[in-house]
Amino acid sequence: MSNARAILVATTNPGKVRELRALLGDQVEWKSLADFPGVGEVKEDGATFAENARKKALGYAQATGLWTLADDSGLVVDALGGAPGVNSARFSGERAAGADRHVIDRRNIEKLLSLLDGVPRQKRTARFVCHLCLADPQRVLIEAQGTVEGVIATEPAGTGGFGYDPVFFVPQLGRTVAQLGDQEKNAVSHRGNAMRRLKPLLEELLGRNGGSC
Ligand code: IMP
Repeated sequence: MSNARAILVATTNPGKVRELRALLGDQVEWKSLADFPGVGEVKEDGATFAENARKKALGYAQATGLWTLADDSGLVVDALGGAPGVNSARFSGERAAGADRHVIDRRNIEKLLSLLDGVPRQKRTARFVCHLCLADPQRVLIEAQGTVEGVIATEPAGTGGFGYDPVFFVPQLGRTVAQLGDQEKNAVSHRGNAMRRLKPLLEELLGRNGGSC
């Protein structure tokens, strides 16, 4: 039995749990929503990434009694007044139950490229944003936000990653995010940057709380 504090990551995505485990090691016993099949979904209907992350962290902490880490992320395109923003996942329409994630990603990219048709490169600036929030059932404990700056390409390139990665071109690397390996992406990504900012805050918090539950 582990003596480490248990923290629920508010996701069913094993990739996100893996990334956190790699970053924060054995100080924490990480759980995911897959460990709590009976817990209902917390709606992401906030106006900002921060609001959604806080809502999810508090909602799942209250449902399970555990410290809960939630994230909300998306793409912000300057020429579109910040869209798709918090609607990044459902930009091309609500996701039907059982719909193929790859098909949704392709439709979202098609919509983005058609809205930016004719917009010159210098006006195609964009960023990915990730907001992370850790809460207990009563309150938000710590938060961190990370971004990565880029330019929306005129056509997709690369097969890695997910979502808008094939059209998110990172000028200093000369490639789209979908052309990066997992570690390369993590080193520059909004999620990686948010986690690197959260890490010292979490270590301090665990130190103050004695680490174990
Ligand atoms: P969520 O925070 O996991 O719900 O992500 C919201 C949406 O933002 C995703 O469905 C993607 O469309 C987009 N998104 C978030 N992070 C990334 C990323 O790292 N690459 C590409 N798209 C992303």
